[in-house]
Amino acid sequence: MQPLNASPKINLLALDERSLGRFVQTLGWPQYRTGQVLRWLYQRGARAIDQMTDLSLTERRTLQAVATIRRTSVCQVFRSTDHTRKLVLALEDGLNVEAVLIPDADRLTLCVSTQVGCTLDCGFCLTGMMGLKRNLKPHEIIEQVLTAYEHLNEGERITNLVFMGMGEPLANLDSLSDAICRLTNRTWGLKWSPRRITVSTAGLASRLKDVAPLGVNLAISLNATTDEQRARLMPAANRLASLKNLLAACRRYPLRPNRRLTFEYVLLAGVNDRREDAQRLTKLLRGLSCKVNLIPFNEFPGTGFRRPSDQEVLAFQAILKRAGIDTFIRRSRGRDVLGACGQLGTLPSRQSMPALTLIESRC
Ligand code: SAH
Repeated sequence: MQPLNASPKINLLALDERSLGRFVQTLGWPQYRTGQVLRWLYQRGARAIDQMTDLSLTERRTLQAVATIRRTSVCQVFRSTDHTRKLVLALEDGLNVEAVLIPDADRLTLCVSTQVGCTLDCGFCLTGMMGLKRNLKPHEIIEQVLTAYEHLNEGERITNLVFMGMGEPLANLDSLSDAICRLTNRTWGLKWSPRRITVSTAGLASRLKDVAPLGVNLAISLNATTDEQRARLMPAANRLASLKNLLAACRRYPLRPNRRLTFEYVLLAGVNDRREDAQRLTKLLRGLSCKVNLIPFNEFPGTGFRRPSDQEVLAFQAILKRAGIDTFIRRSRGRDVLGACGQLGTLPSRQSMPALTLIESRC
């Protein structure tokens, strides 16, 4: 047992490669032990130091005396009728964070969160209405991925990873970059190709350039075609950058060969889904190497916005397509478990419970 006044054990997952290297040095171990420990944490998803069988028993005891692997002990899984699965993970301080597994014909996408709540206050997004509780640490972002791996069905493999869960990724850039490094590192990390990872931002224009070195895809949630409209729908985001500045930053973005930017556009009935909106959107995007994802609004209890009809969505898409813009309609997935875009977050429990089908509650 640990003496009462002992300093708390170091969580190995909370260390980045360099800090772990220094830690290994303080133990008097050779440097290659750093890679060994990292491979256990990420490639083999170890939950206990005892599992690290390429360390001698004595080394494992030495490590256990000062360090531990603290993974989440509670994960609730909500399953949608369309097979989307929402994972709700309890963090060390009792807050919850959500990640969503979205199976499709030939893909399995994992949508992860970067904040509990959100820095921004977009009026159509449930997470935005929670306010910001706090930024996630790098290992809390990775924890969502490691836990999702543990919940895969036989034969399933995650093909795409999108930072489109709770929060504004570019408001937590250091954690985001560190998490992406752990995801993509091929020596000891999860060996993800950056091409299969997408970071979505509500438009923190001055920080777009910081995404480029990460090699991942960039998506920008435009959602409006005039500053007035955007200020109404996404007040905080619009204060940070006007549409003009945001699009200028997009044009300056150093795209790699054969890559495009993605623009997301939430369609709100009677608000931003009219013919003039579509026409203005084509003008704003002219000359940009990009595609557009239209997201028909996903409703949640208490919202005043409405989802447009399929016909209205198709009409909006047709205008963009006629202007030569590749435009896709994002099928809403997991709406019944509040797992679709903009539905992550905490509802007052009386409203949320009937909507959710809890299928599993375990670590
Ligand atoms: N903060 C980041 C990432 C999270 S939101 C961003 O804004 O990009 C991911 C996407 O869901 C964004 O494009 C956002 O505009 C969209 N979205 C938010 N609420 C929605 C809702 N209720 N229905 C449909 N899409 C929504």
